[in-house]
Amino acid sequence: MGFDIKRFQGDVDEELICPICSGVLEDPMQAPACEHAFCRACITEWISRQPTCPVDRQAVTVGQLRAVPRILRNLLSRLCTSCDNVPHGCTAILKLDSLANHLAECEYNPKRPMPCEAGCGLVIPKDELAEHNCVRELRALIATQQGKLTDYQQELAEQRLVINEHKRELALLKEFMRAMRVSNPAMRALADQMEREEVVRWAGSLARARVTRWGGMISTPDDVLQMMIKRSLSESGCPLHIIDDLMENCHERRWPPGLSSLETRQNNRRLYEKYVCKRVPGKQAVLVLQCDNTHVDEHMMVEPGLVMIFAHGIE
Ligand SMILES: [Zn+2]
Ligand SMILES: [Zn+2]
Ligand SMILES: [Zn+2]
Ligand SMILES: [Zn+2]
Repeated sequence: MGFDIKRFQGDVDEELICPICSGVLEDPMQAPACEHAFCRACITEWISRQPTCPVDRQAVTVGQLRAVPRILRNLLSRLCTSCDNVPHGCTAILKLDSLANHLAECEYNPKRPMPCEAGCGLVIPKDELAEHNCVRELRALIATQQGKLTDYQQELAEQRLVINEHKRELALLKEFMRAMRVSNPAMRALADQMEREEVVRWAGSLARARVTRWGGMISTPDDVLQMMIKRSLSESGCPLHIIDDLMENCHERRWPPGLSSLETRQNNRRLYEKYVCKRVPGKQAVLVLQCDNTHVDEHMMVEPGLVMIFAHGIE
């Protein structure tokens, strides 16, 4: 639809009037042969009902419409018009080509977005400001967000179910591989690889630990202490296939040659600093896993790693 001709200052050239709506051309297009110009919206609508030029009935399709010549566009852009918001008090007179920019900022625009000054933080159309009620609006907002939250929670619960299904299937598969590995070498290699990767994943999930007093090491922990450490390992997700070996390795009788006696331990003190230690959650103990310590001398390491329990001095 074109612009109401009454909005314009002075006379408007006949060339600039749309023959369909009788307004001043808005976003004009012209027919290819006869060069009659129309508002884009007007001629598109017209052709959808009958594919001819409304002035001389020559055949025309939407695809054949062209942009109007620059001279016509220049004439249009120089026309002076009043603002859409005259009824709301705007007295501005503008060039047609700056009307869009003005409308976006016109302070008389009844729909201009305004921040509520009562403190709710919402942005609302100016003409709704008088009716605006912070509490009511915020309540509505909370209600919709609560709805979304409920949806998310439901989705999350469904995802958890799926994950648990997968975990169960994975456990079964592992069980199956364990049973098969005895007789099948390919299966054995695959299962070994899966187990190694499981250990690396678990090791990556544990926090680094620093031992400040290696002298506090307990080389012969009693059964109660061992049980406590084992429970903590199990809760941290320690892969089942190494947990017993790890716990066996918390006693000096299973330690590597470099740690096996008080004397060798004292001689090798300086090598301790090379260990990458991981925290046993909540306990005065560290894990020295083989997968974290490939850089350490062989006589200082055992498969799959060591648990070192301390009286104190773990950070
Ligand atoms: Zn028109
Ligand atoms: Zn025509
Ligand atoms: Zn205005
Ligand atoms: Zn408010």
